[in-house]
Amino acid sequence: MGVEPLPGGPALPVPGAGAVSGGMRSDADMIRAALSAAAEADPRDVPVGAVVFDASGRELARAANAREALGDPTAHAEVLALRRAAEAVGDGWRLEGTTLAVTLEPCTMCAGALVLARVDRLLFGAWEPKTGAVGSLWDVVRDRRLNHRPQVRGGILETECAATLDAFFRTQRP
Ligand SMILES: [Zn+2]
Repeated sequence: MGVEPLPGGPALPVPGAGAVSGGMRSDADMIRAALSAAAEADPRDVPVGAVVFDASGRELARAANAREALGDPTAHAEVLALRRAAEAVGDGWRLEGTTLAVTLEPCTMCAGALVLARVDRLLFGAWEPKTGAVGSLWDVVRDRRLNHRPQVRGGILETECAATLDAFFRTQRP
């Protein structure tokens, strides 16, 4: 199923791709929601946003990276969104059938967390060649030794997602 571009490669604009899977929302719509979550990050935090959707495409939870705001090294957008989604579902820790959309390729911690949460699909925007664990440096989510492997699609709205981060890092280097 699904288009899986090679690590570092662009998401090819296949006609109709991303228009289905998981209800009424397209993959691009889900990444747009993650971009709006990123916009809510504390000004000190790297603006990464993540949103969890249920199988029908309904939003369960969203979060922005809050490592600085919370003084918590594990407060990445994905981890916070997964926690909130489990709370919203209210039926234990399993998030089967869900899609996690995030503006940046997850790190090792977040890739591990979304596998453990049993997320069905992972969508992400920009590639992260320095720390990415979904194809760039490692591929934690598709390791054949794991018994749960989410579907993955990366590079969705890559330009917009990368621009958000670039704008932040420009303000860090006066
Ligand atoms: Zn992370």
